[in-house]
Amino acid sequence: MRILQLAAEVTPFAKTGGLGDVVAGLSRFLGRTGHDVRIFLPFYPSLASDGDRYVPVDFIRDVPVQLGPHRFTYTVRTVLLPDSDVSVYFIDCPALFGRGGIYHGDRDDSLRFALLTVATFECAQRMGWSPDIIHCHDWHTALAPVYRKAFFEWDGLFQRTRTVLTIHNIGFQGVVDSSRLIDLGLDPYTRLLDLSPGYLNFLRNGILHADALTAVSRTYAREIQTPELGFGLEGLLRARRDRLFGIVNGVDYEDWNPETDPNLFYHYSVDDLAGKRNCKRALLREIGFDERTAAPVVGIVSRLTPQKGFDLCFDTLPAFLAQRDMRLVALGSGEPRYEEFFQQLERSFPGKAWFYRGYNEKLAHQIEAGADIFLMPSKFEPCGLNQMYSLRYGTPPIVRKTGGLADTVEPFNPATGQGTGFVFEHFTPAGFAWALDLALNAFHHPILWRRMMGDGMTRDFSWEVQGREYVELYGRLAASH
Ligand code: ADP
Repeated sequence: MRILQLAAEVTPFAKTGGLGDVVAGLSRFLGRTGHDVRIFLPFYPSLASDGDRYVPVDFIRDVPVQLGPHRFTYTVRTVLLPDSDVSVYFIDCPALFGRGGIYHGDRDDSLRFALLTVATFECAQRMGWSPDIIHCHDWHTALAPVYRKAFFEWDGLFQRTRTVLTIHNIGFQGVVDSSRLIDLGLDPYTRLLDLSPGYLNFLRNGILHADALTAVSRTYAREIQTPELGFGLEGLLRARRDRLFGIVNGVDYEDWNPETDPNLFYHYSVDDLAGKRNCKRALLREIGFDERTAAPVVGIVSRLTPQKGFDLCFDTLPAFLAQRDMRLVALGSGEPRYEEFFQQLERSFPGKAWFYRGYNEKLAHQIEAGADIFLMPSKFEPCGLNQMYSLRYGTPPIVRKTGGLADTVEPFNPATGQGTGFVFEHFTPAGFAWALDLALNAFHHPILWRRMMGDGMTRDFSWEVQGREYVELYGRLAASH
């Protein structure tokens, strides 16, 4: 199949979160399995300053484009996605993308990403390339199905093209005043649009017009149809639920593999866990704790925002640290109240609790490997990656039953000893305390614990597995003429 990926972020060129990883990981998998994949994204200033890390070559120069009253000129540059033969095309339009970072705020970004979308269609036209699938991601490129119908319906090149929109986080929708329609060249096409109530919502209109919708886990696909997590789009999503599919994100096990991870001092596998014990000692030594302890180490690596659920820890963690023989090693940054909470824990429980404020890739890997239990009590979690990393690193996670956490962690059942982690349902301190207590108790049963580690380490969430679900979906759509 000919598959066009259209996104604001693609790792390693531009990344602020999981979106960029998904577009890159999925595209690599599709390329490996023989599909013709082409990725389109903006050329951001950070790419220009990257020196010779990537050297995109000019592909089409100085193309004029009219969008509403605006006239822009862009150049298309191309380079291969690293570790693949997938072509990446950058839309280099200095007037819109030449300054600042990836995002500027909805008002500016509506025009920036609309231009990206229109330029992408035009580029396909210039290549004479007829995509079977245009796969757009999040609100930034959600108008692709709309522009296709508004501007490009006449062109036979796109006659068989089907559109897929993936929702990575429904909290961001791209909402601008409907007076912006003129800027976006869409004012003659209001009959296509759902403008209630006086606003243009990019994501809403993408959901309305895409041939298929996906969310980044099965549970999240259900949750966004509810008022609690639909952020106002639940009604529309319920109406289109026969077109909405949940597909869990794949993980890049090249970067996250305890057998080869260059960030670790020791390596290990499911058949030989000696290295994991050494990683634990190394981690404790590194932070100045007694490395001979038999106490379980609970690890955290996270952005510190309300989404991640650490409100549940405010009373619970101090009580557990006071009463139980456990260690806490936390890495993260974000809102001051969470940072202060973890700093206070470190002061109150010297030798038991430790906190590193900031972003530290190496330490993140060392915590995944050196901890015994990983903590991720998210309030909501569209997919989540850290729980999948911790499974692979033999560090059973404590998670709340939401989104991708519910889909990837199998609840430990004390009666049968089966499961890969500790799953609590209700977002309450009592729910969290129950799960933490269960985990700390289970840790002291070596045979049972060893089995749980092994079960988690052998679960496979690679793109080889997850990517097939996209291929099936694309195939069904392409066949539906
Ligand atoms: P989200 O995308 O919502 O932050 P995920 O679990 O999907 O949550 O992905 C988080 C990614 O960011 C993981 O790769 C995790 O290791 C990394 N990460 C988060 N906070 C930090 C930090 N402070 N230092 C290093 N890596 C971090």
